[in-house]
Order: sequence, then structure tokens, then C-alpha cells
Amino acid sequence: MTKRSYLTTPLYYVNARPHLGHSYTTIVADVMKRHRLQRGEEVVFLTGTDEHGEKIEQMAKTQDRPVMDFVNEVSADFRATWEKMGISFDIFYRTTQLDHVAKVKHALQTLKDKGEIVFREYEGLYCVGCERFLTESELNAKGLCPDHEKKPEPRKEANYFFLMSKYQGAILAHIEAHPDFIQPEQFKNETVSFLKQPLGDLCISRPKARLTWGIELPFDSNYVTYVWFDALLNYLCATGWPENFDQGMWSECTHLIGKDILKTHAIYWSAMLLALGVKPPKHLQVGGFWLIDGTKMSKSLGNVVRPLEMEEKFGKDTLRFFLLREMSFGLDATFGIESYVNCVNAYLANGMGNLVSRVLTLCQKNFKGSFPETSLTDADRKALEKRAQTVVAWDKGFSELKFQNSLKAWSELVTHVDLYVNEMKPWALAKDPALSDRLQTVLGVCLQLIQTMAVLIYPVLPHASRETLQAIGVEKDPAASVDLALENRFEFKVSLTVPKLFMRVQAPLD
Ligand SMILES: [Zn+2]
Repeated sequence: MTKRSYLTTPLYYVNARPHLGHSYTTIVADVMKRHRLQRGEEVVFLTGTDEHGEKIEQMAKTQDRPVMDFVNEVSADFRATWEKMGISFDIFYRTTQLDHVAKVKHALQTLKDKGEIVFREYEGLYCVGCERFLTESELNAKGLCPDHEKKPEPRKEANYFFLMSKYQGAILAHIEAHPDFIQPEQFKNETVSFLKQPLGDLCISRPKARLTWGIELPFDSNYVTYVWFDALLNYLCATGWPENFDQGMWSECTHLIGKDILKTHAIYWSAMLLALGVKPPKHLQVGGFWLIDGTKMSKSLGNVVRPLEMEEKFGKDTLRFFLLREMSFGLDATFGIESYVNCVNAYLANGMGNLVSRVLTLCQKNFKGSFPETSLTDADRKALEKRAQTVVAWDKGFSELKFQNSLKAWSELVTHVDLYVNEMKPWALAKDPALSDRLQTVLGVCLQLIQTMAVLIYPVLPHASRETLQAIGVEKDPAASVDLALENRFEFKVSLTVPKLFMRVQAPLD
């Protein structure tokens, strides 16, 4: 049976335009999907936008626009950005879509009927500026709201609470029974130590007196739903839950998230699912932050990196390659234009691009289209062994979420072909007509190695992969088959034009 899996990014909150943090998670999901498709698996890839809540209502208000109008525009921007970047999502989910609203109400009513949601008076510290209760730990050293520099006032408010505290033990037990649930390890440990503290219940309502832009509670029209409770349900609702629940799809679910939303996913979401009688997702894979000059990138810092601008400046798919090579999944990484430029030049322009152009130019002048398998020397066979080794290292990196290791193994293959060319000196062979057969074999070996290199890199560099394969006359689509990487081919129809895969780039002066 075909292996089927379900990959999700978070639904991005429409209080910001697509930036580097969003791009990284979305690119990782896209690369993982393409890698799995190549191995004959089926994958459903979900992304989308989270559109309710106070921040959104306020942003629309300050722009003096209807909220729906505002969220439509930002959501469309996300969708268009991913489409232009070639992100192969299957579902673009919006929390304002009508079926989502109906399903969230169904979930709320179900939990209310089961006694999992109760009405309580809550007394806490309320910041008027933030329009919400703050916890003690959110206050600064002077006991003030850090955003408004004001002392929050004690206030009483009645709200609905999801009895999350009940699930503390069950979540811990689930983590223990499924050691690969939260990856990498440090985030599992963080969640476990958080769960060793007492866990409170979750306030899941907001009175309409202070927020109207949300999903109305089905059992009390004076309240709307807390935005996280609404948004998290997207992952489940998209599988057809509840009426057409695709349990097979859900059981192979991986959520890719950033570490800032670990708690909401590992704890709130797990508790919600357990209360609904649904198993938590198979994996939560947690990425680190992108830092710029050592600080977390955010809109207020004014140092937001726009993904499409990067690709326009530095070349198609280059951002994918750079981000995967620069970040060790789960740890923070620093984004710098200089390292981006160095990476494009070293591995793509001078690496793959230069190699393909060098070999194809030699082939156009000298290669007659085929070479016999029997002509391979020991040195050739040894050179070709690198293909299988690279495939193994590449897949190992993917299975361990160590994309850097995969890309390092791939770059070593590029260097390996370069060295083979330097050693065999085909330009010297070309000078002696008696060595014409040897020349065919050397060029043929180079083409076989290039085929492996192009097929393997397909999930990360889909354009360059296809262009390269076309240029050497491999007609099969790399998207559909990884076996193509180790195909023993003795005929290549080399194209008359050499593809210009990557340009050398320069950092802009500022
Ligand atoms: Zn405040």
C-alpha cells in the first residue's frame, strides 16, 4: 500500500505579511513533501491563514477598514507569495471559511456537552491597552505591562474555561509512550518540564463587549471563541472531521511549527484532541528562530526579510537552498545577506552551475551520445560508487531532520565530479583521436554523476534539477522517481544549449 502522510505548517496570523520565519517553515514542508513524493508516497500539505482575534480587529480599525476586507487582503498575499515561490501546498486553509466556523462550533458544543467546558468568574490583572488579562510572569520588573508601561488593574470577568488541567497526566503519558512525538529532543524536554508544574485551565472565550471578531460560542451568544482554540482545530477539520474524518490521514500527521508556538501545540492542542477523543498528531517538529544581528526578527524591529525580494535578487529557489543549509533544524540561526551571497556563489553558481556548464560544453564538442558499459575502468567504477553513498547520506539527513547534512553530502558529490573531471582531463583526451573511446566513457561517467546530482537535489532546487536533466536528455520527471538517481544510463542526448542555472551574485551596497 502507498504510504500516505499529512504535513502542515502553522496557519499564519494575518497581523503580518509573509516574512522569513513563515518562509522557512513553509519551505521545509515543501521540501519534505517533494522528497516523499519522489519516493512514491502520497502527501497532503496544508498551509493557510489564522484570521480572528483582537489584534486583527484592531489593525483593521486603525486602517478604518471592514475586518473581512483586511483579512482577505493579507490572506491573499500569503497565498500569492507561496504560489510565486512554487510552494506545492494542497490545501490553503482559512479560519474565516464557513465550514471551519461550523466545525469549531461543533467541537465547542461537543466539549460543553461532555462537561469539558465550564463557566467561571475570573479575577486577574487586566491591561486596558492590551485589552486582555496578563499573567504575573508577563509583567516587567516594576509590575507594569511591558508594552504600555502601565499598572494593570485587578478586574473580574466571567468566561468559559476548557478543563485542560485534567489532561496534564494524559499528555505526559502520551509523550512518554511516543518518544518521537516532539522533535528535536530539546523541545520534548522543555514540554515535559513545563508539564511538571501545575497546569491551569484554558480560558476559551472573550466577551463580545471587548471583542467581536471571532467565532461566536454556540451556547452563549455574548461570547466569541479565543483565537487559539479556533485556529488549532484547522489541522483536524481539514481531514474531514467530524463527518468525513480521514483517520488514516490524521494518523500520519506531522505539524511543522516554530518554537514560539510549542506550548500551544504540545499542550493546548494535545489536551483539546484528547478531550475530543482524537489521538494527538504523530509528530510535532519544532524549528528555531531566524535572528538578524542577534535579535529575533519582528515587524516592529523593521528588519523583515521579504522572501520574494530575496528570490528576485539572488535567483530562483536560492532561498530554499540557503535556509536549509544555514539552519540546523531546531536551533536558532542568523540570517545575513553576506552569507546568503556566499552560499549562492560557492555552492550554486561556482558549484552545480559551473560544473554542469563545464561538462556540457565538453560534451557538445566531443560526446557522441553513448558509451559501452564494458568500457568502464576501475577508476570510473570507483567514481560512480559515490552516487549510492550520496543517496544514503541524503536520505539519512532527511530522516533525522538534518537537512544540512543532506546538503553537505550533495555538495561533496558536486566537488567529487569536479575532481573526476580534473583527474581525467577530457580536454587532453580530445586532442588525441586514438583516445576517442576513452573520452566517451569519461564524459558518460560525468553525465551519470550529474544525473544523480540533479535528481537528488530536486526537492530543494526543483527548477535547476529539471533544467539540468532536460539538458542531458533525461526525459523522466525527477518529481516522480528517486530511482532515477541511480539509473545506469549509457546514452545521453546532450542539448545544444548549456543551461545558465545560477548567476554569481553580489551583496547590495547600502
Ligand atoms: Zn498592555
